[in-house]
Amino acid sequence: MESSIHPDRTVPTLNWHAMKSRRTPPITYQLIIDVSQPLTCVVGRLGEFAFPAGRYVYTGSARRALEARVARHCSKGGKTLRWHIDYLLEAPGASVVEVVRSVRAECVLNKGVGGSVLIAGFGASDCRAGCGSHLKYLGRC
Ligand SMILES: [Zn+2]
Repeated sequence: MESSIHPDRTVPTLNWHAMKSRRTPPITYQLIIDVSQPLTCVVGRLGEFAFPAGRYVYTGSARRALEARVARHCSKGGKTLRWHIDYLLEAPGASVVEVVRSVRAECVLNKGVGGSVLIAGFGASDCRAGCGSHLKYLGRC
C-alpha cells in the first residue's frame, strides 16, 4: 500500500521568509478619503469641481519614499499643492481615514476599485492604462 509519507525523500529547501511579500516594499498606496460635506475646490489645471460628500478612494504610487509620500498626504496645511489629490485633501471637510499599501501596480489596483469617476483625468496624468481617473467616488457611507 502506497504511503503518502516519504520520510527519506529530500524536500527542497526553500527560503520561505525571503519569499514573503513583506520583503518586497510596497510601491503603491490607496487613500480612503471621507468628505464630510459637499465641497467645491480648484484642482490644479483641471479646473474647479464640486465634490459630493461621501467616501473616495485615491490610488497612487511612489517607487521611493512611499511612507514619506503617505505622511505628506495625511498632513494638512502648509504644503505646496503639487498633485491633484493635494487640492482635495487641503479642502475643509476632506480627510484620509485609512491608508492601504500594496506591491501591486497602481492601475491594477485602481481598476479593482468600484465606484464612479467624477473628475476625468484626476491623478491620472501619467496613466497609460486607460483608467480615466485615479480617484473613485464610492458614494455616501
Ligand atoms: Zn491608471
